[in-house]
Amino acid sequence: MSETLVTGGSGFLGSHLCDALLARGHGVLCVDNFYTGQRDNIKHLLGHVDFELMRHDVVFPLYVEVDRVFNLACPASPIHYQLDPVQTIKTSVLGAINLLGLAKRLGVPILQASTSEVYGDPEVHPQSETYWGSVNPIGPRSCYDEGKRCAETLFFDYHRQNKVAIKVMRIFNTYGPRMTPDDGRVVSNFIVQALRGEPITIYGTGSQTRSFCYVDDLIGGMLSFMDSPRELTGPVNFGNPFECSMLELAERVVRLAGSKSQLEFRPLPQDDPMQRCPDISVAETELGWQPKVTLEDGLKETIAWFRHRLDV
Ligand code: NAD
Ligand code: UDP
Repeated sequence: MSETLVTGGSGFLGSHLCDALLARGHGVLCVDNFYTGQRDNIKHLLGHVDFELMRHDVVFPLYVEVDRVFNLACPASPIHYQLDPVQTIKTSVLGAINLLGLAKRLGVPILQASTSEVYGDPEVHPQSETYWGSVNPIGPRSCYDEGKRCAETLFFDYHRQNKVAIKVMRIFNTYGPRMTPDDGRVVSNFIVQALRGEPITIYGTGSQTRSFCYVDDLIGGMLSFMDSPRELTGPVNFGNPFECSMLELAERVVRLAGSKSQLEFRPLPQDDPMQRCPDISVAETELGWQPKVTLEDGLKETIAWFRHRLDV
């Protein structure tokens, strides 16, 4: 049986990845420092004979024996990654160095959970992998954006210099069950506010856009990318090209939750990207991957999960 290391495995995406790997018969070593991860996300796996949990910060070297590595460790919500920006950049950069060193020593493939944030506030729309991005190097989002950009550089340098087999996945906004109610990202914020009958907080005018991918689609893409031929290093965009404004998202969530919440406008955070939509033609052509879950269906699932979680 193969042994797979998942860093950030108790987080939102990581815990779904652990589930999917175990369901496919792989052993999983979940490494997490519980910065944003929740024990609740993996508690159903704790008794599983093929699942092992290790509390560890990827900023420090890790000596384990595994057959492949998924590197997801890093807070993803702007609120959380801006709380301790130095730790965020250490997690991305030192974490990448430590895990690439591990993959090099073991001669195993490693996948990096990179992000659409490498495109910054893009001047090109939709964003394809050939676009180099427009990122502020000294702003409040830079610890995340530049940390992830530097991690991508490290992945390609280890690949060229040390022949490490790499998979660089640029993930666009993904949502679904197991986001925490206080995560701060827009989908969870709007759903929690709608279910509690609180005002829906729109930052700026709400005309900025994002493209939201349901978690099951994303995890399917992650697994098929890891299983793809060694030559396919990426970067490859993964996301749902259906683009919508934050106002449209708010109206949809309020309707689907059957809520009476009103909209409340707040200042737009600095460097908040105005538009974001993935060009997924590489994932389509090279992997035959396409998201299947519509925003309407994904939101229904997520709202139902939060309703249960919040007991409202
Ligand atoms: P999350 O915050 O729920 O999960 C991140 C996990 O990493 C948490 O369990 C956290 O405790 C752990 N972690 C953080 N720092 C660590 C460290 N130094 N050592 C060990 N563990 C650490 O976020 P998520 O949405 O599940 O994102 C997972 C990965 O995917 C992240 O790398 C993120 O940048 C990337 N990503 C996510 C999205 C998205 O929309 N969800 C989009 C782009 C990229
Ligand atoms: N946003 C919002 N209200 C909220 C949280 C976020 O209007 O309560 C906006 C935010 O300004 C951004 C978009 O929603 O334009 C997506 O924000 P999120 O933090 O989810 O992700 P990111 O900005 O990293 O794409």
